[in-house]
Amino acid sequence: MTARIISGTEISQQIREELKEEIIHLKEQHGVVPGLATVIIGDDPASQTYVGSKIKACQSLGIFSANFPLPNETSESELLDLIAKLNHDPKISGILVQVPLPGHIDEGRVMMAISPDKDVDGFHPVSVGRMVAGQPTFLPCTPHGIQEILTRSGVETKGAEVVIVGRSNIVGKPVANILMQKARGANATVTVCHSATRDISAHTRRADILIAAIGKPKFITADMVKAGATVIDVGTNEIGKTPAGKRILCGDVDFDKVKEVAAAITPVPGGVGPMTIVMLMANTVKAAKLAHQIN
Ligand code: NAP
Repeated sequence: MTARIISGTEISQQIREELKEEIIHLKEQHGVVPGLATVIIGDDPASQTYVGSKIKACQSLGIFSANFPLPNETSESELLDLIAKLNHDPKISGILVQVPLPGHIDEGRVMMAISPDKDVDGFHPVSVGRMVAGQPTFLPCTPHGIQEILTRSGVETKGAEVVIVGRSNIVGKPVANILMQKARGANATVTVCHSATRDISAHTRRADILIAAIGKPKFITADMVKAGATVIDVGTNEIGKTPAGKRILCGDVDFDKVKEVAAAITPVPGGVGPMTIVMLMANTVKAAKLAHQIN
């Protein structure tokens, strides 16, 4: 069997087209332009690239974007003051503070300072609590993107055995919570594995849907995968650079071997990666609608 390759690039493009139409409608019918504020501290090149792609995505969709690049020595109280201003700025629907933050700033306090109504990253404890309780909220972008990949590519989650390897707060835990909800595109039986799991293969081999979010290149090998499974590879590991200096990426799944066993698989790059930014755009549009009480 050779697996169907699920293209996150194509699915994200579909969602972009839908968002573009929604943004035009919001502007024409309601005079509302969604706005995203991005805050970045210091000059970490990876963070600069991420924020740059988020700003570009806003521009291509007609979302207003305001970037706040701050020096590394910015104090926590200066950052909290800026967030307080953005919380009250009607042009700003969503606020994103790029992590990691410098060591002298408490990430938890910063996330708490963002109004839950503008928490488009879905990391505020209020958003997390609502997600766990199955209430409407902003879902974190990568896990929500994984759910969209599954539903839009016709993979049945209801009753499926989902095994997630990785329990981080940004991927593993939220995707487990999202897929276990009694809801459409969820309703799965979920198992979460981590570094203290005794026999990971025993779990992964049961999976109808296997989600790898570990951060270790080719960790998931073909013998760990059930024939006919759907494999979602979240891993984004840099394994070198091209002569032109471009990053060479590798997933957490041994793609070439696993695609001979699985029924469907996401590639790296071009799988989960492109979904994260588009779901951030979707959350920004949702925040603008909430702020103006538009259904
Ligand atoms: P993380 O915070 O480092 O968490 C990794 C998880 O994997 C932890 O729960 C860890 O277990 C588990 N793990 C590590 N080694 C293991 C082992 N040998 N056996 C079993 N479990 C093991 O990573 P993350 O932030 O979730 O990211 C995971 C990967 O996804 C990275 O490659 C990252 O770059 C990528 N990522 C991609 C996107 C995207 O948009 N495509 C977004 C986010 C992350 P413990 O909890 O026990 O330590």
